[in-house]
Amino acid sequence: MQPAPDEVAPALYAGSQLTSELEAPAESAYAGLALPVTHAETAGELAPEDREIAAAIEAEAGWMTEVLARLVDKPTLLGYEEAGQGVVREALLELGLEPVDVPMDPEALHAHPLASPFDWDVSGKSNVVATWEPGEADHGRSLILNGHVDVVSPEPRAQWARDPFTAHVEDGWLYGRGAADMKCGLAAILGAVKGLRAIGLSPHAKVYLQSVVEEECTGNGSLQTVLAGYTADAAVIAEPFGGAITTSQVGVLWFNVKIKGLPGHAAESGRAVNAIENSLKMIQSLRVLEAEMNAAPPPPYDLYPHPIGLNVGLIHGGDWPSTVPGECTIGYRIALYPGMQLRDLQDRIEAIVAEAAADDPAIFAHPPEVIYRGFACEGYELPQDHPLVATLSNAYARQHGVPPALVATTGTTDARVFGLAAGIPSVCFGPYAEQAHGVGERVYLPSVVQTAQVMGMFIRDWCGLS
Ligand SMILES: [Zn+2]
Repeated sequence: MQPAPDEVAPALYAGSQLTSELEAPAESAYAGLALPVTHAETAGELAPEDREIAAAIEAEAGWMTEVLARLVDKPTLLGYEEAGQGVVREALLELGLEPVDVPMDPEALHAHPLASPFDWDVSGKSNVVATWEPGEADHGRSLILNGHVDVVSPEPRAQWARDPFTAHVEDGWLYGRGAADMKCGLAAILGAVKGLRAIGLSPHAKVYLQSVVEEECTGNGSLQTVLAGYTADAAVIAEPFGGAITTSQVGVLWFNVKIKGLPGHAAESGRAVNAIENSLKMIQSLRVLEAEMNAAPPPPYDLYPHPIGLNVGLIHGGDWPSTVPGECTIGYRIALYPGMQLRDLQDRIEAIVAEAAADDPAIFAHPPEVIYRGFACEGYELPQDHPLVATLSNAYARQHGVPPALVATTGTTDARVFGLAAGIPSVCFGPYAEQAHGVGERVYLPSVVQTAQVMGMFIRDWCGLS
């Protein structure tokens, strides 16, 4: 395989993680992170069974790229996931497994305490699960391999050099929205199982392959699979953390603040109250919360200069340049550390908004509203000495010659859903990719194969294979 171009930086997945000092100092972590794209000559450390597995999975490299390209070609934005799920069903059939739909059940989700709130229509949407049944031996540990098919908007599309929903391969990279986050991970888990099946192996316990919806906004797709009864002894989410294993992640809360003003003609500026301008003042008030939360981060987040991001992600307000806008809604995202209670954060946000309004009654004549819609989830951590981490690290180290970085991420993933809703130990591990949610999103294709190879060896070590 070709080494990655020199400009490839070790900061992965939009730089959203750091190494824990406890397990791996930054230097070796970054060496570990960089290795998946340099294809280190460590074959000598592979056991003979490893070599057989690695070769069988390498033989599926072309198929993995093809599946990934087929997935990227489907614009699986929120509400449009089904076309991508169709590709996943085809791929599962190609590797001889039966895809089963796990439809979203809005009533069950609304009633679940760990579901994120939603007000859009989820009926007709399905997660897809296939069960790789154990062979004669049935005494191993079961496993969920999970990825999400939904992607975020590629806007502004004009900044892309090419159509974001047409896969493009150049110099070993595959470009397109979702190439990184995280259709590459889906391709890797499908390719791993295809390679293992091609040489006649069966696991010693059930292995579930899952393609879920709504990871980017609620996590309710993975939650739906748990509600449908899919549990296991471990879950690995193939998010593109570039050869690092995530053991800690923050929670995320989405909230809208709706501010009312007093509409009027722009030429009579006297009495009208501008809701857009007052929304900007509210942003400043909420920045105080962000500063508070970043003042003394708990470990391992103290390794980050600014672990908690308050993102002003969307704005709806006004409709006419000559009208003072009477209403404005801003959508925010903020994170919370593992161990923090969601309700405490919501209380703090509501207090700040109420105080800001009380401080300036003339402009906030109507109390601002705080509305929760989308992510409302707490953080999740798995001890770094957990057998899942040790087993996956060991497979990685045999492949790459160095241990993987164990990382804490300042984003959230579906690993928390399995951990918090079902007590399933969960980590993320996936290919090397860049520009997730950005322009020119891309994955380094050799790292997809290497991820699949490590997954294959891990399946043998965790579940048993024969
Ligand atoms: Zn993702």
